[in-house]
Amino acid sequence: MHSRKLMTVLFTAIIFLCTTGVEIVYADEAIIEGSNLNIRSGPGTDYESVGMADTGESYSIVQQKNGWVEIELQSGSGWVAEEFVNITESSTGNEETKTESNVSSITIPYENTQVREGPSTDYDIIQFAEKGTEYDVMSQSGDWYEVTVNDRTGYILKDLVTAPKEANNKNVFKNKTIIIDAGHGGRDVGAIGSTDTYEKSFAYLTAHELEQELQYLGANVLLTREQDEFISLSSRSTYSNFNDTDAFISIHYNSVPELPNVSGIESFYYADQNKNLAKYIQQGIIKETDESDRGIAMGDFQVLRTNLKPSVLLELGFISNPEKEALLQTNAYQKKLVAGIVEGLRKYFNE
Ligand SMILES: [Zn+2]
Repeated sequence: MHSRKLMTVLFTAIIFLCTTGVEIVYADEAIIEGSNLNIRSGPGTDYESVGMADTGESYSIVQQKNGWVEIELQSGSGWVAEEFVNITESSTGNEETKTESNVSSITIPYENTQVREGPSTDYDIIQFAEKGTEYDVMSQSGDWYEVTVNDRTGYILKDLVTAPKEANNKNVFKNKTIIIDAGHGGRDVGAIGSTDTYEKSFAYLTAHELEQELQYLGANVLLTREQDEFISLSSRSTYSNFNDTDAFISIHYNSVPELPNVSGIESFYYADQNKNLAKYIQQGIIKETDESDRGIAMGDFQVLRTNLKPSVLLELGFISNPEKEALLQTNAYQKKLVAGIVEGLRKYFNE
């Protein structure tokens, strides 16, 4: 039914332009992290190189798509792979109220404590504070201290500078082995989004972001697939069973093309003893994203059924929903999803 498909495409394009286009913040900056990075004419390695970018250069972002960032050039625009750039959000308009600090200084109790650009986990990590170092507190903003580290102002989460007195405050991620399973890959593209995007790409994006965050927290992170390749379901659970796995997290996205308004997040477990793991992660994600909560459920998925280690499967959103599909491509939203998963894991490991 070609006419129907055309209508859907047109409709999607209109919706995209009218509503979600605005959510991809145009004032975002891309700072190049790789050296001699190819700038291409389109979002993929198949497109020809139209120039080079080098470490530290900064460009305005036009849009983000499938792991690629369109950047503004002196004339026209070009595309660079997202994994080689650091995206900074412009902080226009939502400056949080700073309050005078009643704490004059803090001492860092953990090695490599994250210092972020702003007072929220949505902001990028700009550097790390060293264990045992004392810093003057300039102000407080919600749960964050503003400090100056190496002549640069940044924010440290208050929880991270609470001295480790109780068991609750210990770094629960240290020595934990976490396997991240990016769903699908290679010839198995998974579900298809409203603009013909693939579930496998979104799953990989989230897996990669989660990997980085968990590594910062000291976990030993393993991926069932390192790139866009086909890996069988049995290899995935076997990998989990053969490792000293403390948690196996399978990442997926949903699609119901017939119902483009459907949205929400759902977490699955198979064995009853993994119910809490699913519950805490689900709660964490909903809290961070404000997405509609589709709850947790027992799910008979092979990667869970044949998995002997604590394991869950997350359905992190509907790529058939044009608005969500666009939102899921933003770094800021991916960071929220990851923050929610990390929060759930923290609660699970703390038990
Ligand atoms: Zn899937």
